[in-house]
Amino acid sequence: MSGSAYDILFESVQIGPVKTKNRFYAVPHATGHSSLEPNGSIAIRTTKAEGGWGVVSTQLAEIDPSSSLSNLPVETFWGTQEIDVNKVLVDRLHKLGALAAIEIGHTGMRSRNLSTGEPVLGPSALPILKPVVPVQARAMDLQDIRDLRKRHRDAAIRAMESGFDIIYVYASHDASILSHFLSKRYNFRTDEYGGSLENRARFLKEVIQDTKEAVGHKCAVAVRLAVHEFNDNNPLTEKNEARDLIGMLAELPDLWDVNVGGWSRDSSSSRFEEEGFQEPYTGWVKSLTTKPVVGVGRYTSPDKMVSLIKKGKYDLIGAARPSIADPFLPNKIKEGRLEEIRECIGCNVCVSYDAYSCRIKCTQNPTISEEWRRGWHPEYVKPAATEQTSLVIGAGPAGLECALVLAKAGHNVVLSEASTTLGGRVIKESKLSGLAAWSRAADHRIYMLQQKPNVEIYMDSFLSADDVLEFGADNVVVATGSSWRKDGVGSTNFRPIDALTSANIFTPEDVFNGTELPNSILIYDDEHNYLGGVLAEQLARNGHEVTIVSPLTTISAWTGFTLEQSQVLTRLHGLGVVLRPNQVITQVAGSQVSLEMADTGAIASPITCEGILLVTSRNADTSLYDALKGHEGAAELNLHCAGDCLSPGTIQAAILSGHKIAKEILGDAGATEFVQREAPVLFD
Ligand code: ADP
Ligand code: SF4
Repeated sequence: MSGSAYDILFESVQIGPVKTKNRFYAVPHATGHSSLEPNGSIAIRTTKAEGGWGVVSTQLAEIDPSSSLSNLPVETFWGTQEIDVNKVLVDRLHKLGALAAIEIGHTGMRSRNLSTGEPVLGPSALPILKPVVPVQARAMDLQDIRDLRKRHRDAAIRAMESGFDIIYVYASHDASILSHFLSKRYNFRTDEYGGSLENRARFLKEVIQDTKEAVGHKCAVAVRLAVHEFNDNNPLTEKNEARDLIGMLAELPDLWDVNVGGWSRDSSSSRFEEEGFQEPYTGWVKSLTTKPVVGVGRYTSPDKMVSLIKKGKYDLIGAARPSIADPFLPNKIKEGRLEEIRECIGCNVCVSYDAYSCRIKCTQNPTISEEWRRGWHPEYVKPAATEQTSLVIGAGPAGLECALVLAKAGHNVVLSEASTTLGGRVIKESKLSGLAAWSRAADHRIYMLQQKPNVEIYMDSFLSADDVLEFGADNVVVATGSSWRKDGVGSTNFRPIDALTSANIFTPEDVFNGTELPNSILIYDDEHNYLGGVLAEQLARNGHEVTIVSPLTTISAWTGFTLEQSQVLTRLHGLGVVLRPNQVITQVAGSQVSLEMADTGAIASPITCEGILLVTSRNADTSLYDALKGHEGAAELNLHCAGDCLSPGTIQAAILSGHKIAKEILGDAGATEFVQREAPVLFD
């Protein structure tokens, strides 16, 4: 679409000796794939290149065994063994017109080295940056520094031999030996690598110079640096040394890839930060260097991207999560298909998968990590072999996704929804405090369905088993969702809680339905994901007195994996919510709730409240599915069940389930098995 307002995004950018085809830069991000799963991770990246990203980066590739995150699935780049596989990646990216970048790095005192047994290296002798792991870092001596410089240089040469165009010097996320040397928090050295900023930056400067010398004639050298850190102890910020640091190193690398640190703030969720949240912290770097700058901030709006370039904030629009949610974002902008962009909702489900050591999954993009092993594509669905009619019942995330995939394949799709709103639980939850961006998961699918002539959507259309049979579709998908339990059965307790029978009980559905809740409320969170905390926040903002009780020793435990937990706790505390971790309800007498400590059984102080809001677990709403299965006319039906109705889970799981069931109906082999599996090599 030449002559459009977005042409500027498709200008090429010179980065040292290489040139991009546009300004879309898929920055390094964890994929949850270790080096043992190269086919899967290569497919994630090539899909992005296919979707138009001008630069596609690898995740962190650890340069040697003294840098090992051990329990996290990152890639190794220890020796020549990794060159061949990376050549395949680079070759495929090049064929698709993208430059290939590799984030080689050493994780310093963020390493655990449990799997390699090497001593952890740091600027000073301190415990490692993973408090529960009983390992300490040793202070590197001058020979260690010389050795590590050589190993980084060797890794850069291997990266060049693999064909990479851009090679990183990684100093970000509080997860690099170079950032550890920079930091006054960890660097207590008294030699030429400690003390003044110039001394603390020496290691970083030397590694940039080494890398430039080794590969600079052929490859661009990028520095990834957190120029604003969010912590209370000597953070690097614009006002505290970061300007001086950039000033000192401004022209050394070919590209500045700037962000904020640590990882939890760099990957802030939409609950806490809006699109573009990093600009105030990183947008100043470009004023100090003539080298191109790439910045991130969950950018999905092409207008915002254009404005950033025009304002001279960045030269390249960096994206991790937006490129996961929609690998085809650049092409959609180029082709003027802006409404089709599947915008990241900022839920951090992708992050949680990696942090839990699994291949990443995404709420918006159910095909991520399935490109190779299931043969799935984020945009294309193979046309159906025959003309068929599919009836999808329930327009929650599962039903919407299922209907969309079937419609893309060419089925005549009828989507029937009992309520007067499309979107099911996503839309309900998106009305809660901080979750507005989540509505994108429904909005995108509703828009796409509305564009299809082969789709009919009926709202206010509750279907019974007889209705379904009378309709007579070739395929029937029941996606009728789930409802929250009222009996206290939850993650830590598999039997109803007797004490609750005498209590004034509410569930999240009451909040969604606008039921008036009493002023003082106890939220009993035995689900441990986001919802208990979100409801506490919402009710506190609405003036309720809120206490949140959790049987686990932390509140909103799973949000530790979405990197939100410390912000969740700070926010709840700030709103006056009383936090009661490690406690269970034992008795309810009127407004008096008795509790005991979950671990020791010791009596905890009672709580006075007028109602208890249970966020514990859900029952699948299988009534329609069961009625259809048991119906005498059911033999004729190709009947399926999807989403929470099949098994209550996250919104991401519901969308994946809807996608999978649609593919199963379409006869896609990847829907029922992994068509390809990563295979270990056996040596003699
Ligand atoms: P999921 O997460 O699995 O998509 P949701 O609970 O978000 O589940 O959505 C289920 C949707 O199904 C809701 O919008 C609900 O109104 C709708 N629904 C439930 N029962 C019926 C029915 N019998 N006929 C039509 N729609 C239904
Ligand atoms: Fe965005 Fe959520 Fe997908 Fe991650 S999982 S890319 S945060 S939509």
